Formats: sequence, structure tokens, C-alpha cells
Amino acid sequence: MVETRENYIDGEWVATETGETLDVTNPADPSEVIAQYQRSTAADASTAVEAAADAQSEWAATPGPERGRILRATGALLEERKSELTDLLIAEEGKARPEAAGEVQRAIDIFYYFATKAADLGGTVKGASAPSTNLYVRTEPVGVAALITPWNYPIAIPAWKLAPALAAGNSVVLKPASQAPGVVIEIAAALDEAGLPDGVLNVVTGPGSEVGTEFIENDGTDLVSFTGSSQVGQLVYDQATDAGKRVQTELGGKNPTVVSASADPAEAADIVASGGFGTTGQSCTACSRAIVHEDVYDDFVAELVEQAETIDIGPGDDHEMGPQVSDDELDSTLEYIDVAQSEGATLATGGGVPEGLDDGYFVEPTVFTDVEPDMRIAQEEVFGPVVAVLQVEDFEEGLDVANGVEYGLSASIVTDDHTEANRFVEEAEAGVVKVNEKTTGLELHVPFGGFKRSSSETWREQGDAGLDFYTIEKTVYDNY
Ligand code: NAP
Repeated sequence: MVETRENYIDGEWVATETGETLDVTNPADPSEVIAQYQRSTAADASTAVEAAADAQSEWAATPGPERGRILRATGALLEERKSELTDLLIAEEGKARPEAAGEVQRAIDIFYYFATKAADLGGTVKGASAPSTNLYVRTEPVGVAALITPWNYPIAIPAWKLAPALAAGNSVVLKPASQAPGVVIEIAAALDEAGLPDGVLNVVTGPGSEVGTEFIENDGTDLVSFTGSSQVGQLVYDQATDAGKRVQTELGGKNPTVVSASADPAEAADIVASGGFGTTGQSCTACSRAIVHEDVYDDFVAELVEQAETIDIGPGDDHEMGPQVSDDELDSTLEYIDVAQSEGATLATGGGVPEGLDDGYFVEPTVFTDVEPDMRIAQEEVFGPVVAVLQVEDFEEGLDVANGVEYGLSASIVTDDHTEANRFVEEAEAGVVKVNEKTTGLELHVPFGGFKRSSSETWREQGDAGLDFYTIEKTVYDNY
């Protein structure tokens, strides 16, 4: 019997008024329905916004240490349930077990991190020109936050928006991605159990174009934080700014790893393979371009192909690389593989559905060589385990190719040359730059966000910077 999960609105678990649901299936075996979720409407979304607006001022007035206590208790409940949450994440999104367990741990750590921050928020005292004046700056919450999240990190991304929003005293309406909403429902259950007052968090599942649009356009929300594709993100940004809202969009990437003449080809291939094929290539920061100096090109390609061919593919539960999340995502990757070949790139390995795995949304780790910078495979986000290898003559050309895309999320260089490393750090157009490391992965206490089309570049997420979006400063002159 498949479980039907309800929306969480005003502290209650409620069904959509239409009674319609949507099935979430296992990407490793789509015949298995994991759970049903509400296929909510704009009316459900509007009810959620109303509840959030009603609850906001009392939550804002709740002392920071008390807000922090609830976040800490939530982290502890999630920690107790870590193994069930990991299983649910694998079942709905398909990630390999160590990746899923790591992501759940990240969500737990984020709740603990912002639990501490909640007590620290308040403001700063400044020196006043007049002796009888208290001059200070208060840090206040902004209001009702609308959060819209993608499926590829279905627990970490909602956590890194929700925890700072709540820590700062905002109330929240949250729409998780339709492909993997289960872990967000579990966060709501944990917050409820930890004592979050009714209405402070409201979770509504259903199509982004209905639920998300209502969250953005409803007069009751004050700020919109979106992570997802650049196409939808642009729409969300336009709608939110038209409606006069504070908005933050974090979007796609086309992340390069530059391999310099001084690099060890085996080490570089290791870095590119883990950045490109980890999480089945479904990370916004995944390495999708290896830009390789001609001196080490052949050795690097041989090493990368060998790495790709030894990856153990299968259900995420007990394999190294899981499936893509959906048939749409698989089709899109296979289409890019066709396009790359028709544009003249050489398929060095992969490119198909692995033998015996055609029931799920599996695709082989794929490497293209002879890729030219203007090919679509070198310009557009693929969002699957596909690495395009480009050959360059020197560092200058490598840097130009790395920066020659419209995205700018993460970039890395593998080099033994300190001058090159320094220049790359200074000149790479990306929100995250790494030397001798893969493009994926970032700790929770540092700012995260993109340059160029990877981000609205309005506010950063995570770390102290993550609180800025959810707070507003008020300057006070108090004469006594
Ligand atoms: P997506 O299709 O853009 O969806 C993201 C969220 O937006 C989902 O909750 C979706 O709901 C909702 N949505 C869809 N249409 C909408 C609309 N018209 N108005 C409001 N909301 C709408 O992205 P995705 O496929 O889930 O995620 C993959 C993308 O996210 C990739 O491009 C990846 O690079 C990017 N990403 C970026 C970062 C970052 O920090 N920069 C991190 C992770 C992922 P439904 O699920 O119901 O369609």
C-alpha cells in the first residue's frame, strides 16, 4: 500500500482541496511508486501564504535563542532519523548511498549551524555624535519567505534556505521539487515535533507553474529564494521583481577543470572524474568541461576513459553511481550525446544505456574528446555524467575557454605552477574557484553562489552571507 503524504499548512497535515495527487517513483525502477504527494493548486498555495503571514510577527518576536533551540532540536530529530532519510532520498532521487548519507548529514549540520546563529543575531551598536544618543543598528527579519527548490539536492538545498530564514525570524512557504519531495515533508515533521509554532513553516507540493507562481505573486510573500534551472530561474526573477519582491536565484553551471602542462594526468583525471561523474553528473557544480594542455592531453584522456569505464553503475542503494532522476533528464542527456556526435566531437567512451539496466534511468559515464569551444556540448548545461574534453595550447587559451561560457558557478585548475594557480584564482569568472580540487563540494560555512548566468548575483547562500538575504537592517537614533 503506497502512502499518501499531505501538505503541511498552519501546523496541520492537509490534503489539497481537489483531492488530486502525484506519484513519485523510484528512478532505478520506475515501476515502483515510493509515495503519493498532493498535486496542490494556487488556492492551496494561497492558504499557506495566509498562514505564514499570520504567524510571522509572533515568530519574529520570539527570542533568537528560543528560535535556535527549535532548530537545534530539529537537527537532533533529523540525526535520529538519518538512516530512514537516506533510504528515502535514494528511493526518490536515486543517489548513491554515500552521496545520499552525506547530503542528509549536511542538512543536519545546517540546522545545528543556524541554531547557533539565531542566538547571535540582533544588531550592532555604533558611536553617536551626540553624547545623549544611543545609535544602533537592528537586524530584523524581512517577512514571509517563499522558497522553491530543485530535486538534485532535495534535502540539503531546502535546509540551507529554510534554516537561515527561520533563524532570522521569517515565516516560510516552501515548494519542494515534484520529483523528490519526501525529505522536505520529513523536515516539516521534525520542525513540528521540535515545537515550531503553527504557520511558521508551510510546505505545499505540486507543480511549480501553479504553486510556485502563486508563492511568487501573492501579496503576502516578501522575498523569493529559488534554486533550479536558468530557464525557470529567469522567469521567477522577472515575476518576483515585477511584484516588487526581494529575490535570489541560484541556477545552472558549465563548470570547467583546467589541466595545465605541469599537472599529473592521473591525478587530474581523478579530480575530473569525481567532479563530473559523482552524483551522476547531476550537481550544479559538476565538472562538465576538462580543458587540457596539449602536452598532457593524450595521457589525461586515457586515464579519464579508464576511470569512466570502471565505475560501478546500478541502483544507488549499493552501487557507486545511481540513475538519472527521471526519463526527461535521461532523454535530455542522450539527446546531448547525439548532438555532440553530430557536431563532430569524438565519443571516447560511454554514450549509451548500460546493459541490463534499461528499466531504470541509467546512462553510462561518457567522455567526449575533440570538443571545440563553440559546440553545444561545451556551452550548455547537460546535467548528466558527460565530460567534454577540450585541448588547448597554453594557460592563456585555457583561461579564455574556461571563461568563454555564459555560466560562472564553479571552476578548478590542476597545476603545479603557483603563478598559474594565482592567476586562475584571480581571473576565473566563477563564484567558487578551486586549485587541485574537483569543482563539486563546498562547506556549509562559506558563501555559495554563481557569477554571470549562474545566479541573480543578488545575495549569496550559506555561511554568514546566507543570513543577509533573510534580514534587513534598521538604524536607530535613540535620544535619552
Ligand atoms: P527546475 O526545473 O528549474 O525546477 C526547480 C524548482 O522550480 C522546482 O521546485 C520546480 O517545480 C519549480 N518550478 C518549475 N516551474 C516553475 C515556475 N514556472 N514557477 C515557479 N517555480 C517553478 O530545476 P530542476 O530540474 O529541479 O533542478 C536542476 C537545475 O537546478 C539545474 O540547472 C542545476 O544546475 C540547478 N541547480 C543550481 C544550484 C545552485 O546553487 N546554483 C543548486 C542545485 C541545482 P516542479 O518540480 O514541480 O517542476
